[in-house]
Amino acid sequence: MSKPKVAFFDFACCEGCQLQVYNLEEDILNLLELVEPVEWREAMSDKAEKYDIAFIEGSITRPGDEESLKDIRERSTMLIALGACATIGGVNKLKNNFDLAEVKQCVYSESAGMGHLETSATKSVGEVVKVDYHIHGCPIDKQEFAYIVRCLALGKTPVIPNHPVCVECKMKENICRFEYGEICLGPVTRAGCGAKCPSNGMWCFGCRGYVDNPNVNAAREVMDQYGKTIADLQGKLKLFGSKQEATDEMA
Ligand code: SF4
Ligand code: SF4
Ligand code: SF4
Repeated sequence: MSKPKVAFFDFACCEGCQLQVYNLEEDILNLLELVEPVEWREAMSDKAEKYDIAFIEGSITRPGDEESLKDIRERSTMLIALGACATIGGVNKLKNNFDLAEVKQCVYSESAGMGHLETSATKSVGEVVKVDYHIHGCPIDKQEFAYIVRCLALGKTPVIPNHPVCVECKMKENICRFEYGEICLGPVTRAGCGAKCPSNGMWCFGCRGYVDNPNVNAAREVMDQYGKTIADLQGKLKLFGSKQEATDEMA
């Protein structure tokens, strides 16, 4: 049986999620028993016309990005958004909260007029094309990536957690960050990272995006209990470009 042909593509991002794939080190060799890379700018010069699985890293913001992404979609059987930039727009989406010309001027000063800096509002991959699976996080968890690739190569459906980070955090018996007067996005953020940030003395920044149906009532109760406002929560949500509709109704 032939192995699924896989390809990696990157749009606006730091390419840290692909770095996580390389960080699998010897486990990459095990994955290569199951899949065949046919296009991967960072690792090989070959190109291909068709892909069984296309991994898309990065958010969509430069001229031509949407067209390129649609072209990849047409040539792929399955398309997977890799990392927060791709799944929810990521940190790049912060700029959508401001006037774009002002943002460019602030970041690049006198170089702001350079042609290659021409961008429009940032979109996640799913806002442009159909996405079959999302691999969450900034960066992705390399073990979760390997698990998902194995499942797909073996024709199984990967299970992607759909409960809040608080569940994993409670299981680790962490002291809640709200007890320290901080605002943590764990109540509305998708688990799967093992509550990495609260387990290491930080609040959750929401890099894995919302759970499918965030329990806004529970989140509101937590905010009330600790004397915080919904505006405080929404301010934190901006960092990772998570959609705000669910918390809008809390306001
Ligand atoms: S999700 Fe984070 S680590 Fe991955 S490409 Fe985007 S900024 Fe980099
Ligand atoms: S709010 Fe944050 S720190 Fe508190 S339990 Fe949930 S994930 Fe853990
Ligand atoms: S705790 Fe939150 S910010 Fe930290 S890795 Fe997990 S989802 Fe991302």
